[in-house]
Amino acid sequence: MGNKIRVYVDKNKCIGSTTCIYYAAQTFTLDSEGKSTVVNVDGNDINKIQEAVDSCPVGAITIEKDKQ
Ligand code: SF4
Repeated sequence: MGNKIRVYVDKNKCIGSTTCIYYAAQTFTLDSEGKSTVVNVDGNDINKIQEAVDSCPVGAITIEKDKQ
């Protein structure tokens, strides 16, 4: 608990499959180019975000965790 996380989407890799949005709809949304973008890291459980990372078909999402 209390760990901060940062989430990044590599838009050069993202193919707009929306899988990440299925798993973590409060964290990811599609931008105007149909690529995933991070809107709110705190809105979803870390496990949901991790599921999104694991399910991305092109490995476009990265999580960084800070230990406090
Ligand atoms: S799951 Fe991966 S490829 Fe699909 S929209 Fe999310 S970041 Fe893009």
